[in-house]
Amino acid sequence: MSGAALRLFDVVKEYPGGVHALRGVSVEIATGDRVAVVGPSGSGKTTMLTVLGTLERATSGGVEVGGRDVVDASDNELAGLRAHEIGFVFQGFHLQDSMTALDNVANGMLYTGAPARERREAAQAALERVGLGGRVTHRPPQLSGGERQRVAIARAIAKHPAIVLADEPTGNLDSKSGQEVLALMHGLASDGATLVLITHDEQIARTFPRRLLMRDGEIVGDERQ
Ligand code: ADP
Ligand code: MG
Repeated sequence: MSGAALRLFDVVKEYPGGVHALRGVSVEIATGDRVAVVGPSGSGKTTMLTVLGTLERATSGGVEVGGRDVVDASDNELAGLRAHEIGFVFQGFHLQDSMTALDNVANGMLYTGAPARERREAAQAALERVGLGGRVTHRPPQLSGGERQRVAIARAIAKHPAIVLADEPTGNLDSKSGQEVLALMHGLASDGATLVLITHDEQIARTFPRRLLMRDGEIVGDERQ
């Protein structure tokens, strides 16, 4: 174990059809770091995040999550790792419209194996944390975009993951809701969570202590402030 939350060594990701989405990416992200990933559309940002989050396997190269080599891990082991250690937040929220906010968040913990009551308590606490304690029985269609994204954040953090990966979480929000969501994301770091967030908004990127710039499947810049 190196203290790194996430590590890629010379990662190549080739999609069927010969698209080289990642062309030899190496990066180490320390535990508790907050990293923005920026770069033009098609530069490989989402692909890098999905490889970091073990949703996709690299074509070649090394991937470590929490100091563990995940290249040789089975699909089941990876599902377990994601269930316990990684929270995902997506631009499009990915909520079930027919379920209450509470059930959306509690269901996000199904794969942790926690009993239903524990999941509901954790969901309630997470919704309170994102300021939605008064909306737990609302369904997504009854919530604003900003509130939906806060439900999605609650779902990601209810299990207290060590790592939170977010793909343009403010992309569908107006600027005020976006600011609220961004503040929540930064607040996760106070729990020691490692945060990697994709954005194409320079202003948002500047609020992060570290920024990775991607272009054409490579990391071409790594800035710290
Ligand atoms: P970004 O998030 O920076 O916009 P992506 O990682 O989504 O970039 O995409 C990088 C490249 O990989 C693009 O050329 C894209 O078309 C391609 N790509 C992404 N996902 C797939 C996929 N599932 N199958 C084939 N090509 C893909
Ligand atoms: Mg993308």
